[in-house]
Amino acid sequence: MARHLITSAIPYINGIKHLGNLVGSQLPADLYARYQRARGHEVLFLCATDEHGTPAELAAAKAGKPVAEYCAEMHEVQARIAEGFRLSFDHFGRSSSDRNHALTQHFAGRLAETGLIREVSETQMYSHADGRFLPDRYIEGTCPNCGFDSARGDQCDNCTKQLDPVDLINPHSTISGSTELEMRETKHLYLCQSKMKDELEEWIDTRDGWPVLTTSIAKKWLNDGDGLQDRGITRDLDWGIPVKKGNEDWPGMEGKVFYVWFDAPIEYIACSQEWVDAGKGADWERWWRTDKGADDVTYTQFMGKDNVPFHTLGFPATILGSGEPWKLVDYIKSFNYLNYEGGQFSTSRGRGVFMDQALEILPADYWRWWLLSHAPESSDAEFTWENFQASVNKDLADVLGNFVSRVTKFCRSKFGEEVPEGGSYGPQEEALIADLEARLAAYETQMEAMEVRKASQELRALWVAGNEYLQSAAPWAAFKEDPERAAAIVRLSLNLIRFYAAVSSPFIPDASAQMAQAFGLETVDWPKAPLSEALSTLPAGHTFTVPENLFRKVTDEETADWQERYSGTR
Ligand SMILES: [Zn+2]
Repeated sequence: MARHLITSAIPYINGIKHLGNLVGSQLPADLYARYQRARGHEVLFLCATDEHGTPAELAAAKAGKPVAEYCAEMHEVQARIAEGFRLSFDHFGRSSSDRNHALTQHFAGRLAETGLIREVSETQMYSHADGRFLPDRYIEGTCPNCGFDSARGDQCDNCTKQLDPVDLINPHSTISGSTELEMRETKHLYLCQSKMKDELEEWIDTRDGWPVLTTSIAKKWLNDGDGLQDRGITRDLDWGIPVKKGNEDWPGMEGKVFYVWFDAPIEYIACSQEWVDAGKGADWERWWRTDKGADDVTYTQFMGKDNVPFHTLGFPATILGSGEPWKLVDYIKSFNYLNYEGGQFSTSRGRGVFMDQALEILPADYWRWWLLSHAPESSDAEFTWENFQASVNKDLADVLGNFVSRVTKFCRSKFGEEVPEGGSYGPQEEALIADLEARLAAYETQMEAMEVRKASQELRALWVAGNEYLQSAAPWAAFKEDPERAAAIVRLSLNLIRFYAAVSSPFIPDASAQMAQAFGLETVDWPKAPLSEALSTLPAGHTFTVPENLFRKVTDEETADWQERYSGTR
């Protein structure tokens, strides 16, 4: 039994995420966690809300609530929606937890001791209209690198170049729109990432088989221009983790907090402590400390491409720089963007489908299937209602749903609601079983490799193989001449439903549970070769109930209605 630590990039607290966010981290992470658990491995799957920084302050102000109260409420909202999508986190933590406060202060203290923190007196944009220092992302202007006119103060979303607000051409406040910005003096702590460059590059070079998307972004940050830059880890804000050196005050840093990019990834570790605090686990150190048993852990992170720099460089610099034996990530699975109907999802304009809306119109499995089978892996992908309707209707309703419905209803009408006896598996069944064995192995290979789209195709191929078998074996025709032959076909087909319950569970857990429950089963073990055994597990006489339609079809009217409804201005 292997041990898998799996984390999803943590969603920001200031609102409900859209489907593009979901498929860029949480959902594929859940797929992988469910798969590894199903294979009998020990899994710790963690996610949390990312709660610090100015956007949280501003969202709370807009909602007329104290920021702590706002974050607590939004955390509950996000946790409920995550449950709705069946995201199987072992714990869904909060970056504002006491645990993360203590751990972030601990890391800063260690980094100061190892000589990787320096104090910098700098000038920062102060906005007279807003009466405050402006965080980087609240300043927009034209990118000096590519000319994109809505580059943020910290990064250009168009060319991904890391920026400083002073680099921007024609900067303005995104809060008030004011261009009356002034540089004022303030003191901040910087993490000396430049000193870590060689160590980081060496480490990245040892990461075998990382996706090109991941390594190319990391290498770009390491080597472009003047190379990896030191980066500020503190801000002039109220809401956040107070700057401390471990447990001690940090002279000159009073009233400042850590920058959210510094404390957010540390929450991956703190989350495991919260998991223990919540009574769900006994020992977090065996997952995170290589001196306490984490040596045999395989750690996989899931994230959108915009998060790659922080996970390949920023967070590793923090934990490597501490000089302590922390577990480093083994594999980073990163995703491109999901676009929406010829444009982008837009939170501000309410363009696209958001996670709460999605669950209001269809159950989780429909979304899970479409999103995962169209995951933006090798390039950006696009959600269109037309494609969604076609894919759901074909794959889920016509292929899997139809198979389950036909087999169970036919059996009920001819043999009653139990697995029929008589007959035996012949050459047609043997050929099917051999085919399924090969396809299952291919499916497992893609799942191990986290090739999400390819895995979905292999799973679909397993469903198709069953359908084709049923169509050609035609028990309804056989029944007239040779009821025993029909009984054998139906017996295998019922066992196939049980088989599908197991292998489909990482993608569509609710439908899988429904298939298992039709046979009175709570769970179904992952099938192992030779499949002749797995496909005779349900003996003659085992009772079942005909399940409600697993999947319904999405109609043209619905598609047109939803297309209109989610086109913008939420
Ligand atoms: Zn740019």
